[in-house]
Amino acid sequence: MISIKNLHAEVEGKPILRGIDLEIPDGEVHAIMGPNGSGKSTLASILAGREEYEVTEGSVTYKGKELLELDPDERACEGVFLGFQYPVEIPGVSNLYLLRAAVNARRKYHGEPEVDAVEFMQMVQEKIAHVGMSMDMVKRGVNEDFSGGEKKRNEIFQMLMLEPSLSVLDETDSGLDIDALKVVASGINRLRSPERSTILVTHYKRLLEHVVPDRVHVLYQGRIVRSGGPELADTLEEEGYANLETDEAAAT
Ligand code: ADP
Ligand code: MG
Ligand code: MG
Repeated sequence: MISIKNLHAEVEGKPILRGIDLEIPDGEVHAIMGPNGSGKSTLASILAGREEYEVTEGSVTYKGKELLELDPDERACEGVFLGFQYPVEIPGVSNLYLLRAAVNARRKYHGEPEVDAVEFMQMVQEKIAHVGMSMDMVKRGVNEDFSGGEKKRNEIFQMLMLEPSLSVLDETDSGLDIDALKVVASGINRLRSPERSTILVTHYKRLLEHVVPDRVHVLYQGRIVRSGGPELADTLEEEGYANLETDEAAAT
């Protein structure tokens, strides 16, 4: 699905990512963990195509294409979905309007006709039920006056509607109560299939108890210093990130 090779990146001239190698096969969920400031959001932002991050070396191949050469809209049309740590609010533009535009943009990109209005609303009905949102909510402005938990539900709703091939979720679990956490987890699990992959950036093990990843990677100071199975998340929870300095020394 996606292959990241020797990725180096800077923000405002400051090196943040210092050689990331990561392969995510079709159908797998990989968690990226690591302490604050290690570069997790930077990695997610680069996959999203945000301009303030400059890639100085390396490549990202997605379904055989050079992802870094596609603009953010093309990435979305190619089936990449990015969920953010701090979702934006767009007052005055309804969630449904935006989603329908996104669905149609992707259809147009692939030479398909626009989505039928009735079919679209049936899909909305079905998906809001999965995330516990009301029709009234999704008709409101994008994330307008949504609580933190509602924004995350909305993000998962968008993901379910778009059925992406690759989802990159940055701290989708942060600040969630247990009900919202379960909604987020079940949304991610619902999309698990042999054709889809997910990168789950998370600070805590909590979400990984509900979405058991195929692999866990630890990012520290811009490098992946450890990779393992789901049990690595348990080890980190017990030991904290304190031992990583020695791992990093060994990796250098
Ligand atoms: P994480 O998500 O793992 O907590 P980030 O990727 O957000 O880490 O940040 C990694 C480093 O890059 C931090 O030192 C942070 O201050 C810096 N950084 C990230 N984004 C910016 C930015 N837009 N401008 C300046 N520094 C940034
Ligand atoms: Mg952070
Ligand atoms: Mg972050």
